[in-house]
Amino acid sequence: MLWDFEKRRKEMVEYQLRLRDITDERVLAAMEKIPRHLFLPVEFWLRAYDDAPVPIGEGQTMSQPYMVAFMTQALRLKKEDKVLEIGTGSGYQTAVLAEIVDKVYTVEVRPYLAARAKEILEELGYALKIIFRISNGHWGYEEAAPYDAILVTAAAPNIPPALIDQLADGGKLVIPVGWPEHQILYRITKQGSTLKKEELLGCIFVPMVSKEEVES
Ligand code: SAH
Repeated sequence: MLWDFEKRRKEMVEYQLRLRDITDERVLAAMEKIPRHLFLPVEFWLRAYDDAPVPIGEGQTMSQPYMVAFMTQALRLKKEDKVLEIGTGSGYQTAVLAEIVDKVYTVEVRPYLAARAKEILEELGYALKIIFRISNGHWGYEEAAPYDAILVTAAAPNIPPALIDQLADGGKLVIPVGWPEHQILYRITKQGSTLKKEELLGCIFVPMVSKEEVES
């Protein structure tokens, strides 16, 4: 029973997502389908469906299921949207995005994590939908801009300007801002030359590596 991952996944969707405020059926279906434990080192498999973040190595974490669902739902995705993710990490959030849209660009600054995420995502059949890049996400991924949605899964003290520049008109950026305390998850919507900024909820993410840290 302990290893019945499918049952645990169904319970996760029911109790942690549906019973809270996750209503987007595509998000719920994606999270019921994707074997979340496979994105973790094997010693953490039994924690994969807990209502909490889980370590993935190098001091990083896979976000809590509810947070993954909430952020994805907040982007209000359409199948044809082009999405940029900053902070590939385990690759789990990338898989959730790839279940919903056709093209996901994902940027990770730590090569080891990026390589592991790429391996499992390819094994699960997502290779054609995902473009991987190892670099500092502070600069976004200019070559493929503009994006209909940008999702950042590490907290920065300020919103990197490149990410705003790379949003399409009407595009949405979901990003945790503030470090180390009082982080807030924001949704920024580009409306012509103006930005609509909404505070969604309080949150705790690992810090985003700054551009200075990588350059030095
Ligand atoms: N979505 C991931 C979250 C991983 S934690 C998951 O659920 O597994 C955040 C990730 O952001 C880490 O892997 C970290 O290495 C990465 N990261 C931190 N700063 C970054 C930066 N400047 N550019 C790209 N990735 C960054």
